[in-house]
Amino acid sequence: MSAVIQFQNKTEEIISYNPATGAEIGRMPNASAEDVRIAVENSRKVFADWRKTTFAERKKFVLKAREAILEEMDEIARLISDESGKPVAEAFSMEIAPVLDLMQYFARKTEKLLKPRKINIGLYGALGRYSKIVYQPLGVVGIIPAWNYPFSIPLGETAMALMAGNTVVLKPSELTPFIGLKIGEIFEKAGIPENVVQIVTGAGETGAALVDAAPDKIMFTGSVATGKKIAVAAAKNLTSVVLELGGKDPMIVFADANLEIAADAAIWGAFCNAGQSCSSVERLYIEEPAAEKLTELIVEKTKKLKQGAGGDETVSIGAMSSERQMKIVEDHVESFQKEGAKILTGGKHKDLFFEPTVISGANNSMRAMREETFGPTLPIATFRTEEEAITLANDSEFGLTASVWTKDLTKGKRVAEQIEAGTVCVNEVLYTHGIGQTPWGGFKNSGRGRTHGVEGLMELVQPQHIHVNRLAILPNAWWMPYSKTAIETFRGFARYFASGSLFQTSKLMPQLLKRMKELRRK
Ligand code: NAD
Repeated sequence: MSAVIQFQNKTEEIISYNPATGAEIGRMPNASAEDVRIAVENSRKVFADWRKTTFAERKKFVLKAREAILEEMDEIARLISDESGKPVAEAFSMEIAPVLDLMQYFARKTEKLLKPRKINIGLYGALGRYSKIVYQPLGVVGIIPAWNYPFSIPLGETAMALMAGNTVVLKPSELTPFIGLKIGEIFEKAGIPENVVQIVTGAGETGAALVDAAPDKIMFTGSVATGKKIAVAAAKNLTSVVLELGGKDPMIVFADANLEIAADAAIWGAFCNAGQSCSSVERLYIEEPAAEKLTELIVEKTKKLKQGAGGDETVSIGAMSSERQMKIVEDHVESFQKEGAKILTGGKHKDLFFEPTVISGANNSMRAMREETFGPTLPIATFRTEEEAITLANDSEFGLTASVWTKDLTKGKRVAEQIEAGTVCVNEVLYTHGIGQTPWGGFKNSGRGRTHGVEGLMELVQPQHIHVNRLAILPNAWWMPYSKTAIETFRGFARYFASGSLFQTSKLMPQLLKRMKELRRK
């Protein structure tokens, strides 16, 4: 096999479980630091050839990988559901469909997006010079994702990295190694050259080893705590990192919004993927006059949702992915109650099935309104004015996404631009990670850098400036030797040339000619 590493130095195994049933899915090697080092070394070797491939060749591989997914789409959806606990419906709608769209987009458009770009260099252009930017690949891109979107996030990043001319070493989350492995298999089926995409399975230590192996970029998705550790470790080798971290995303609903739609949006935004989305709605702020009605609608609609094993096609809410995560949700629900908030529906769990939980009477001083919950809870608070809504939304260490709901689009956009978040939607919620053309990433502790969009593509290349002098027949006036005439000329540069005006610069001509004569005499 080319894509999946055959470990020589495995230390132990990681075991993957189906969170809905507790059944073991299988075991994978826990790659050692030495395995990871070898993987990065091999990746660097093949990068020398991969970077020379044309965009058309890369496109062929990515589109073939897409075909490979389509061929076994149902099996992949089942695997995603089994290993992560999410409903099969969401495996299709939130993982497979968006990543297929991203793959076709970057396969077809990367060449255009990375087209060399001419720079207007002002008056230097009049001196016969020109500048352009060409985008060079970085080398080896190390991808370390979380478990919550174990297919779409790392696969999308892999496809973009490959299209930009990089090779990839991917370490999937220890909770979802088989989905990671599937990504390797897909590229193998597409016939990608050996070692261009490698999967190294393992837990946090394997991820740390990938950072220590000094790839040329780390694309990390996970918690703030791990993100900080990675930033410190990467700094040792000056490896640049993109950090996609946590969120505590606010949804602001003004009284003039369509409340039926806002209720459906809040439910999907808070409970899809059992609330385990970085951009889940974790704080709902409703304008007071609409609070009662919207809360009622939300509770009524939430009670109708079916919860169960993700494989059942009529299930809307699956199991949470891990015991550890569920304990945090339990703790937050308890803490809401202790601090005076009220559970309107839900609040309990059986095994890893945590009921969708609607909570009223929340406010920003409560602990669970400040820490990321990452589970199926929807705490509701109220506000009176636009300014108060903005203040409440911004009162958080996080800033990944936010949404504003109102029929008044001018107000919606005005409020959106005052919210500190990487993406703010007006009358939409959560889903823009699924639009590959738009940038994804957070303000504040929600991250650094971007994935997706042109901004995400720019994270995967290094801009190279090419500068050409078409008239290299005379020395430059600023070269050596220096003299009184030279200094007088440079004074003129400061006064006239640096003004950016051709008219002003023309006043420099006599002095410049004097200087050129001096240089020719030397
Ligand atoms: P996590 O930080 O525990 O683990 C993430 C990944 O890092 C895993 O693959 C893990 O093995 C690896 N890892 C752990 N320790 C490491 C170390 N010292 N060095 C290198 N790698 C290490 O996070 P998680 O529990 O898997 O994911 C949940 C978090 O991810 C939530 O906070 C969520 O908001 C965030 N998330 C963010 C986005 C986004 O786009 N901003 C998307 C999805 C998830």
